[in-house]
This record gives sequence, C-alpha cells and structure tokens, in this order.
Amino acid sequence: MTAVRRVGVLGAGTMGAGIAQVAAEAGLEVALLDPVSGAHERARDRIGGFLERRVAKGELHAGLAEAAMGRIREAASVADLAAAEFVIEAIPEELDLKRDAFRRLDAAAAPGTILATNTSSLSVGRIAEATTHPERVVGMHFFNPVPLMALVEVIAAPQTDRSVVDATLAFAQQLGKTPVEATDTPGFIVNRVARPFYLEALRILGEGAADAPTIDATMREAGFRMGPFELIDTIGLDVNLAVSESVWEGFGRNARYLPHDLQRVLVQAGRLGRKAGAGFYDYGADGQRGGPWTGLAQEPPIPPAEVFSADAIRDRVLATIVNEAASAVEDWTASPVAIDTAMRLGTNWPEGPLAWGEQLGLVRVVALLDALAATAPDARYGVVPLLRSLSGSGGSFFGTA
Ligand code: NAD
Repeated sequence: MTAVRRVGVLGAGTMGAGIAQVAAEAGLEVALLDPVSGAHERARDRIGGFLERRVAKGELHAGLAEAAMGRIREAASVADLAAAEFVIEAIPEELDLKRDAFRRLDAAAAPGTILATNTSSLSVGRIAEATTHPERVVGMHFFNPVPLMALVEVIAAPQTDRSVVDATLAFAQQLGKTPVEATDTPGFIVNRVARPFYLEALRILGEGAADAPTIDATMREAGFRMGPFELIDTIGLDVNLAVSESVWEGFGRNARYLPHDLQRVLVQAGRLGRKAGAGFYDYGADGQRGGPWTGLAQEPPIPPAEVFSADAIRDRVLATIVNEAASAVEDWTASPVAIDTAMRLGTNWPEGPLAWGEQLGLVRVVALLDALAATAPDARYGVVPLLRSLSGSGGSFFGTA
C-alpha cells in the first residue's frame, strides 16, 4: 500500500489541530479548513505552542518543528481538500452538521479520496448515508490530546469497503498511531467498555455503601491512574453524562448502561466538575481538591454491615468491566486483542479488561455478577453468554495458544 502524502482536515479545533499536527510531523502535506473566524490562528498557536514545548524539552529538533508547521496550510474551501488521499472531519458532534459536511466533501473530493470522521459517539453509517459513495466513508476516532495518545479506533460502518478499512489502518500507522478496528456500534470500544468504571462506582456511591474518596482510593490502589469520581470531575460531569446517555440510547436503553440519577442531579445543580469548581468534590480557587460533595454526607441509608470493603468495591467494578468487554466481543464490536489494546492505550488502564478478567478468574467474575444480579431490580448485571460459557468450559477469550 502506498504511503499517504496529502491529508485534508475539516475543523481546526482541539482535535482537528492535533490531527493536523501529527500528520505534518509524519511528513504529510496538510490542508486545514475551518470557516469560523479566528479558528486557524488558534490552531496555529496551539500546534506551535505544543511543538515549541517539545523543542524546549530537547524532544524535537527546532528545524523539524519548523518544517512541520510549514507543511500545514489554510484551505480556502472544501474543494481545496479534494486532492488529498484522506480527509478527516473533526467538526462539532452534531449529526446534521456532519452529514452536511460529508455531502459537500463527497461532491468535491476525488473519487479515490477516503472520507474519515472523528466522531466519538455518532453512527458512522448514518454519516456515510449522506454521501453517494458510502463505501469510502470510515471512522477514525483519535483521542485527546492527539499528539500524545497512541490509539486510533478505526470504525468500519456496514457500508465501508474492506479496502478502505485496510487503507485507514495503514494510514493510522503511518501517523505513528496504534489502530484498532471496531464495528459501528454505540461508543465503539473505549467509550462503551469504560462505562462500568463510572456507572458501577456511581451505583456503589448511590447505595451509600462507600463514599467517593474511598471508591477513588480503592480503584487507584487497583492500578487505575485516577479514581472514577476524580476522573469524571476532570472530564466534566456533563460531558461524561452525555456519553453515558448516548451509549444507553444507542443500546435501546439497556439497563446495563442506565445513567445514574445522582450524576443528573449534580449536573442540574451546576456541579460540572473541576471546570465549575465543584463536582463530586469541591475545588479551591487554586484548583486544589477539597472534600467530597456534602450533599451525600449523611447517615448511610443501609446498615453498616453492608458497607463495602475495598476488595468488594474493586471486584464489583472490575467484574462489570469484564462483562462489558465480553459483550463487545460477543456482538462483534472488536476482537479480544483489539479491546484490550484499546482500553490500555485509550484510557491508560493498567491492564486490558479481558486479560484482567482471566487473571481474576472467569468463574469468580461470573459468581460476583450472579450475586449482584440477585439483588438488582433489572438485568444490569446479566452475565453475557460468552463470559458464562468460557467460565464454564475453562476457556480463554484469546483462544488456545
Ligand atoms: P472543537 O469545538 O474544539 O472544534 C470544532 C471545530 O470545528 C471548531 O474549530 C469550529 O470552528 C469548527 N467548525 C464548526 N463547523 C464547521 C464546519 N461546518 N466546517 C468546518 N469546521 C467547522 O471540537 P473538538 O473537541 O475538536 O471535537 C471535534 C470532533 O472530535 C467531535 O466530533 C468530537 O466528538 C470528536 N472528538 C473529540 C474529542 C475530545 O476530547 N475533544 C475526542 C475524540 C473525538
């Protein structure tokens, strides 16, 4: 497969600027298009600042940084992107806006140009539908900050041609990234398999079985860089809730993904996390974290005997993550290796969830989920058939060596 030489990027915001930067650093000519006034200047400042910091740290030669900047040019119109082998769209996450952009890109681009969307939650197939050649539309889901995050989820919509998926996997590698392939399912891999990390923690908190600092400390102890509530506060409670709602809707309101009311309450109260100075924790003017939200500081609603040990908290969260990862294997979203790679690189988890499940023991994971299911009002802890079957047979997600 021949190397890509020219790339078009539509949208010069957080992600578009990052994608333009990695492409330029990989030696590609980049045409960047953003009609919003000031967007190009902001992107150049952002990219320039990033490269300068790397030069200052001795990680990048000043001449290479300058050459990379020189390869990024401002495009004047969608037609100006037409000569590129790949166009990557990174405009706001609104289906109608993206469909309109793809309609215009499709009309302007050369027949061989592959059209990629960086959507994190919309259906790539719904975007592809807006074009006359949906077979050349693919998802290329980069992670923020793009220059630092190795993962790219390559999303094959039902219409995407196999040769387009293969070319996109190769292109991501050319950019120095690690691609994983996934089908066009809600949340793809990372945003879906990460859900239980937040949702199960919220359920434990909502049951009054442990407070946020205890749950966060427990999950850090288990190897996660941040606990679930610290992480939600950093992401933004509203942003995290929007992803949860989108995955829940995408899976037909399956109980496994039901967003937690507690999070809605905090969002409605304006406790959006660090950016608002308050979320699951309070923050001082200097950004220093204070105590947890006092709205929860009351008598635990359940008897102290039911209050969870650290092991029980960790096992609950891990078991639900393993179940979700197994469900993504079972419904053909991605291979076990792709899922574990995506979760390590996309979320910095210390271990892939499927390998982790096997270390814990699948029999134990199933027993934990069955015990939880016995207490739950709905099917949220239902063990997916693949997990139950592997636990019964002593098998592995990764087959036999
Ligand atoms: P952003 O708001 O920072 O940037 C969007 C840019 O698109 C803006 O510069 C805006 O001026 C421009 N724009 C708006 N309408 C346009 C149009 N019609 N044509 C060209 N440019 C247009 O948003 P972002 O965070 O970069 O997100 C972009 C996409 O990437 C979204 O689909 C988002 O879901 C996805 N994404 C974001 C992240 C993240 O962490 N920010 C991570 C992965 C994927």
